[in-house]
Amino acid sequence: MNEPARDASTWIAEASHELRLPIANLKLLIETLLDGAVDDPQACKRMLSRANQEVERLERLVVDLLSIEQAADSRHELRCQWNVLEDRAAYAVDSLKALAGERRVSVHVEIEPGWLVFASPEQLDQVLLNLLENALKFTPEGGQVWIRSGQDPGSFAVEDTGIGLSASEIPKIFERFYRVDRASSRGSTGLGLSIVKHIVDLHGAKISVLSEERRGSTFVLQFPGPQRMGRPCAPF
Ligand code: ADP
Repeated sequence: MNEPARDASTWIAEASHELRLPIANLKLLIETLLDGAVDDPQACKRMLSRANQEVERLERLVVDLLSIEQAADSRHELRCQWNVLEDRAAYAVDSLKALAGERRVSVHVEIEPGWLVFASPEQLDQVLLNLLENALKFTPEGGQVWIRSGQDPGSFAVEDTGIGLSASEIPKIFERFYRVDRASSRGSTGLGLSIVKHIVDLHGAKISVLSEERRGSTFVLQFPGPQRMGRPCAPF
């Protein structure tokens, strides 16, 4: 099998495996209800709430799988423009306001006025949304998250005071479906960072992670300017 075909079949096998678990759980819950649990109001309520969680998980998986597909689709016509980072960050913060409130984590935007990033706007949004969502998910109540402009043009960082990562975990987090702790995966699909990495690679950008367990994580991104994209990038 050639490399792209092998990659596609591995990818389908991995995706099917992840989809199978919530489906199997749903099937079990429905069978238990049909076997009589439906007559016990308390058990019935508990099982329906579990079933709802499994449906939500399936929904997240499908959304993430679709965004991988969209990112891959734009391979041939990456449409880049200069983006005002403050505007893109404001959009991400606004989109995740409810999650930040629910998790009781404060979000700060510290971006130099007029800081620009040359990228596809939709894909830059996707990167910011995924990183900010992770920062909120993996930061305990009372914690803080920052979106900052970086040192060099086109760079920025998403930083949190969350649970952090061990040195051995850091190289694995960009793998598809990788979650540090599968048991307490906090609604994780393990796809967000693989999508981020894919977008970063498409742009010829770089991502690095600085993290310490129980202290927090910083994801640093460096997008190149239009001359250094390393691949054709059609301007708008
Ligand atoms: P998901 O889409 O489920 O959040 P990701 O691919 O984005 O999955 O992340 C993979 C794993 O990396 C997560 O399950 C989590 O264990 C770890 N991780 C990602 N971001 C952070 C962070 N900011 N702090 C701590 N752990 C993180």
